[in-house]
Amino acid sequence: MPSTEVKKDRVGIDCVHYINGEYVHSKSGETFENPNPATEEILGTVAVGGKEEVDEAVSVARKALKGEWADMPSRKRSNVIRKIGDLILERHEELATLESLDTGKPLWLSKSVDIDRAANNFHFFADYLTTVGTETYQQDDKAIHYAVRKPTGVVGLINPWNLPLFLLTWKLAPALAAGNTVVMKPSEVTPMTATVLTEICKEAGVPDGVVNTVHGFGETGAAISSHEDVDGIAFTGETVTGTAIMKAAAPTLKKLSFELGGKNPNIIFADADLDDTIETTIKSSFINQGEVCLCGSRIYVERPIYDEFVERLTAKTKEMKVGDPFEADTNVGAMVSEEHYNKVLSYLDIAKEEGGTFEIGGKAAEGFDKGYYIEPTIITGLGKDSRCVQEEIFGPVVNIVPFDTEEEVLEQVNDTHYGLSASLWTTDFKRAHRVAGKIETGMVWINTWFLRDLRTPFGGTKHSGIGREGGMHSFEFYSELTNITIKL
Ligand code: NAD
Repeated sequence: MPSTEVKKDRVGIDCVHYINGEYVHSKSGETFENPNPATEEILGTVAVGGKEEVDEAVSVARKALKGEWADMPSRKRSNVIRKIGDLILERHEELATLESLDTGKPLWLSKSVDIDRAANNFHFFADYLTTVGTETYQQDDKAIHYAVRKPTGVVGLINPWNLPLFLLTWKLAPALAAGNTVVMKPSEVTPMTATVLTEICKEAGVPDGVVNTVHGFGETGAAISSHEDVDGIAFTGETVTGTAIMKAAAPTLKKLSFELGGKNPNIIFADADLDDTIETTIKSSFINQGEVCLCGSRIYVERPIYDEFVERLTAKTKEMKVGDPFEADTNVGAMVSEEHYNKVLSYLDIAKEEGGTFEIGGKAAEGFDKGYYIEPTIITGLGKDSRCVQEEIFGPVVNIVPFDTEEEVLEQVNDTHYGLSASLWTTDFKRAHRVAGKIETGMVWINTWFLRDLRTPFGGTKHSGIGREGGMHSFEFYSELTNITIKL
């Protein structure tokens, strides 16, 4: 059984599956060790779910679609979902500690973003579900047509490691609000907060079998994706994994919602408020060690302010402290794993080979005997076909390029397979509106970044995703409409 009590010495927890309201080990007994990326100490073990655990979780989730959960009045369901958010806030410190231990991100960030927003996801969808309607049409005096909303069914929620609880709850809250049952697969890299979340769901009054977790690697996710009794998969992760899930899900024609990778541009015109731009660009470049799908890693700056921009951003970056995630003044913590650390470092080697100049950074951070720390890095001088410009690095690494015209910058910005988000900086609102409409991404922020309202459509175009999450868009994925026609 997992002990969810976080000890004073910051030891983590063992993670086992949660099926039908019980914490259970794998039948095979197979586990792996979960390292703390900031210290390389072992936080605990994680059970590896096989076909048996996935079959069991799907079977109980299918049964739980009927009975207490289906019969629960929407007001009561809303109260249960709100209570999950309340309990997350009650266990805020513990969850934030676990999240930082697992990911290497600064504790202040886990507290102010990950855990707060996780609670907010439940509070938002608890309210939202009580307001959701459907369509009704009166066809002259011939008929009335109306739609009734039903849950999608058993939904698999497959999650990445960068914002573990925040992104898991961004799927779980609407899935529950729409009356589904779920099988969750947290990332093998960051399994701890998901393990605590199921305990919270139970305490909040979610009936057994409605929320299930099976831990493991990609094979466990694949077993969920290909399962004939799973009706939909909501996945956030790498684009290449999305294609594997799509293939695995095809024979059973599942509903799919994909939030995938990004290589997001920041476009900065010479008339932008530069103080504000620099302040926000530091965040959009390096927050969460650059491990946010929305981070702006391709920065395009209009030539008249290019030199000043590079100089000021570099100076600000120099002030950033790379350090222990549990120290209050740390800006950049540890990369999430040894594997990811090596991947990011390999891109720094590629940048050198491709003729890039490091304005700052470009290597592992010094002064650490253990842990996976990388210096915040600004690169200039790379061509548009460079791998560092085209491929998602997902670390504290940005590339800056000068531009002369709107047409030229739009061509470069759109010259990528990705299409998640963009951040556009100008005080000319006609231009802002014109350029924003021509950027091939699902989201464009003007004079800001990562400013979210949970009612708005969230998601990517091209290889950055399929479908949208948020408000009604989440409900569309997590519910099915049946149209009923009455002849008059
Ligand atoms: P990943 O694709 O490696 O893993 C995500 C999850 O998929 C994990 O739980 C993993 O075990 C599982 N998985 C792996 N192979 C699978 C398979 N064949 N079938 C089913 N499941 C499988 O992604 P990651 O490295 O954990 O996360 C980083 C990626 O996530 C980045 O590309 C980032 O841009 C993306 N991301 C996107 C968004 C968004 O909203 N668009 C948000 C956060 C992260």
